[in-house]
This record gives sequence, structure tokens and C-alpha cells, in this order.
Amino acid sequence: MRTYTKKLSIIVPCYNEEESIPKFYEKAVQQETFFHAQDVELEFLFINDGSKDGTVREIKKLRERDERVHLVSFSRNFGKEAAILAGLERAKGDYSVLMDADLQDPPDLLPKMYEYIEQGYDSVATRRVDRKGEPPIRSFFARCFYGLMRKISKTEIVDGARDYRLMTRQVTDSILAMKEYNRFSKGIFGWVGYDTKWLEYENIKRVAGETKWSFWKLFLYSLDGIMAFSTAPLSIASVFGILFCIVAFVFMIFIFVKALLYGDPVAGWPSMMCIISLIGGVQLLCLGIMGQYMSKLYMEVKNRPKYLVKEEF
Ligand code: UDP
Ligand code: MG
Repeated sequence: MRTYTKKLSIIVPCYNEEESIPKFYEKAVQQETFFHAQDVELEFLFINDGSKDGTVREIKKLRERDERVHLVSFSRNFGKEAAILAGLERAKGDYSVLMDADLQDPPDLLPKMYEYIEQGYDSVATRRVDRKGEPPIRSFFARCFYGLMRKISKTEIVDGARDYRLMTRQVTDSILAMKEYNRFSKGIFGWVGYDTKWLEYENIKRVAGETKWSFWKLFLYSLDGIMAFSTAPLSIASVFGILFCIVAFVFMIFIFVKALLYGDPVAGWPSMMCIISLIGGVQLLCLGIMGQYMSKLYMEVKNRPKYLVKEEF
């Protein structure tokens, strides 16, 4: 058998993807002619993230045909972030690439991505230029999220960025050095830095099955992202505090002067109620924000395993 000097690890998180997996493999393996010519061999790491369908069966079928196929099967659904981590931890390649099983990350782009790595880039990332086929309300909130992130986080988080990314060993090791429990890949990629080449492509519909992201799941995920890569919300309490102090001071002078000039008629009950409930609301909001950060801290401190493996080959 021919030996190669370099290896590319293709990492594929799979959650209920029994239909997509054979289609994905068929497409991805077509790239081997290009890579073999470059003296690069391939390795496939399928991470089964607690699928309830025949995902594992499909991966085992592939293994019977192809020794380069590996499986890591989780004991339950731990989320895509955990699957990405498990894949990167096991990748033996000089290069690693993260790909979705649904062919929304086109394998034909791999040669182009590899060429940029050859040119000296440390990682090649992709972003989609449009959000075709997505509900408008979702696009709207996505845009708001990225706009907000740009303002409150020092880490660059690119709008429309996908997790489809080819990177060198060095970048992979840097990502693995980030041990946090609350993992937000889009932020982690930006945080590690290195020279990144961005490629753009139009949104592609998934080949089979349906998206695993409900609106609510995406919303919670965006909150995770904000909390993982920004501490700005924590300053809200201070900002409101200063603001209310100023307002209260001006108000105090106003009431004092008014009482001196016109005496002190019946106190303004409605205005007092408004102020009390406003300040009460702001205090609860700030407490809530602190609670959110504290809950993240709590999870980090517990230091639980980020995933559990049931089966692996
Ligand atoms: N995925 C996963 N665990 C999950 C959800 C998704 O491993 O809990 C995988 C899924 O199988 C797919 C990739 O992550 O390979 C992207 O998921 P999906 O296509 O649903 O997301 P979208 O492309 O719609 O953002
Ligand atoms: Mg998809």
C-alpha cells in the first residue's frame, strides 16, 4: 500500500443523519484523487452525537468498505460543540477540517481550501454570503446578534461564518488548549487568531433530513455566545447605577426647590410608583444577568466531562 507523508482529518458531527451520511461520504471521498496527488491521505472521523436513527449503522457500513472511517459514538446528545471537540481531540492529521454531514459544506471546496493552506495560511474558513431559504425573522435576529457581538466583544465573530474550516495542526492544538466547558466555536476560532483566509459561497440546502436548530435553540445558543466572549452585560448594572444617581440628584434639587417655593402639597403617588417599579425592574434585570454568568461559572467549576463515549473505533 502506498504511504503518504501528510494526513487530512475530516471531522463530521452527526445527529440523526442516516440519510445524509452515505451521500456525504460518496461526495467527500471523490476528493481523494486530488489529495493523494498532493501526498495527503484522508481520514474520516464521524462523531455520532446521540442519534436516534440509523446513523451508527450507516457509519459501520462505511467502515466495512473503508478502513479510514472512524466512529466516536456519544452516550447521548451532547450538542455539536461537544462533537467538534471530540473530533479535534482524535484527529491525527497534519490538517483537520470540520464539515456538516448534510452537504451544506460542499466538499468540492476542499482542494481550493488546501491550496490556501499551502500558500501559508494557517486556517481557511468559509462564510455564506446569503441566507436564502431561511425564515426572514431568523435572518433578522441573526443580523442583530452579529451586530451586537461586534460592539460588545473584542473577539471577532464573523456574520454568516460556518464551522466549515480547514486548519493546520498548530491551529487545532490551539483550539484544544481552550479547555472551557461552555464552548462557542465561532468565538473560539476568532479568539485563537492566526492567518485566516475567508472563502464565500452561496447557501446550499441540506441534502436530506432537516435542520436541528429551532428558533429557541438558536436564541439560547446566541446567549451562550455572548456570555462566553463578552463581559459587557455585566457592566449594565454599573451604567444604570450611574444613570439613576444622576437622575436622582437632579430630581432631588428639583423637589427641594419646589418645596421651598410652593410648600409641600400631597406627595405624587403615581410618579413614585413609576420610579419604584422602574428601579425594581432594572435591579432584577441586572441580578438576572449576574445569575446567568454565575450559572456558567458554576458549570465550569464542576468540570464535568464535555461528552461521554459509548463506542469508538
Ligand atoms: N449536529 C450535531 N449535534 C446536534 C445538532 C447538530 O452533531 O445536536 C450536527 C448535524 O448532524 C450536522 C451539523 O451538526 O452535521 C449541522 O447541523 P444542522 O445542519 O442541523 O445545522 P444548520 O446547517 O441548519 O445550521
Ligand atoms: Mg446543515
